[in-house]
Amino acid sequence: MAGSAPATKVVSILNLKGGVAKTTLTVALAGTFAIQGQRVLVVDIDPQCDTSIMLVGPEKLEELHKKGRTLAPFFLQTKDADELVDCIEPQVSDLRGVHNISLLASDMKLADIQNGLLTQGQTVPRAALTRLLGQLKGMFDLVLIDCPPNFSILTQNALATSHFYIIPAIPDYLSLILAATRTMEYVERLNIRRPKNPVKLAGIVITKFQSNNRIHRYLTEKRNKDNAHLWKYMLRNHIIPQTVGLTEAAEYDSDKRTHGEKFPGLSKSFHDLATELDQRFTG
Ligand code: ADP
Ligand code: MG
Repeated sequence: MAGSAPATKVVSILNLKGGVAKTTLTVALAGTFAIQGQRVLVVDIDPQCDTSIMLVGPEKLEELHKKGRTLAPFFLQTKDADELVDCIEPQVSDLRGVHNISLLASDMKLADIQNGLLTQGQTVPRAALTRLLGQLKGMFDLVLIDCPPNFSILTQNALATSHFYIIPAIPDYLSLILAATRTMEYVERLNIRRPKNPVKLAGIVITKFQSNNRIHRYLTEKRNKDNAHLWKYMLRNHIIPQTVGLTEAAEYDSDKRTHGEKFPGLSKSFHDLATELDQRFTG
C-alpha cells in the first residue's frame, strides 16, 4: 500500500486455477493472524463473494449489498475513496473471542468489471485499490486480498497494491505444475512494469493434500523432475491436508466456535503456516 503506514502488509492470495482453497486459506489465515494479535482486514475481490459469505453469513452480506457497503461502488466510481472506512464491516468471522478481523466485502457487480461490461467511457484504473487502501493509514497490521481465479483488472488491482502474494495449489498437474507456474510467470510480467515496487512471492502452499493419492505424494516429494522448478518457492510449513470436516467451515455459524472447531485437524497447520509467513512478511 504505497504511501501508507509501513507496518501494514498487503498480501494477495492467488492462483489462476479455481477450487484450490484460496478462499479457505484466506479465511483460515485471517483467523490465525487475528488470534496471534494482528488487526486483519480481508478484502474480497472475487465476484463469487465466497470469502464475504464465510465471514459474515448470507443475511449480513445481503444487507451490506443493499447499503452499497462493498468494493463495487468504489470501482464503479459511485463512491469516493474517503468513504471507504464507513464501508468496512468490523468484527467479522464466527470465531469465538476474535474481534480484530474486518471485511471489505465483494459484490456480484464486480463480475461486470471483471468481464469488461462497463458503461461507455467507464474504466477501472489498475491503481484503484491502491488509492482506496491508502485511506486506511495504519488501521490494520495485515490486509489479505482473496483474488478471483483469473488475471482480470480485479486481480491486477490486488497485485498492484500488494507487497506479497501466496499461491495455494492442490498437488496435481493442473493446479500446481501448470497453474501455479503460469501465475508466477504472469506476476513476473507485471513486475517488469513496476521494477521499483515488485510484489514478492511469499511462497506456495499445498492444499487439500491426500496422502493416499500417488500423484499428490509424488508432486510433494522433495525436488523431482516435475516439481524441481517450484521447489524453492514451497513454504516450509506448506502442506494443508484434505480433511472431511472442512465443508462446515464454509458456513458462517452464528454460534461462535474456536479455530480448532471451525477447521478440525488443521488449526495447527494454519498456525505454523501463519508464523512462517509472518517471518517472511517482516523479514
Ligand atoms: P477457491 O477459493 O480456490 O475456489 P475454496 O477455498 O472455495 O477454493 O475451496 C474449494 C473447496 O474445497 C471448498 O468446498 C472447500 O470447503 C474445500 N476445501 C478447501 N480446503 C480443504 C481441505 N483442506 N480439506 C477439505 N476440503 C477443503
Ligand atoms: Mg474462492
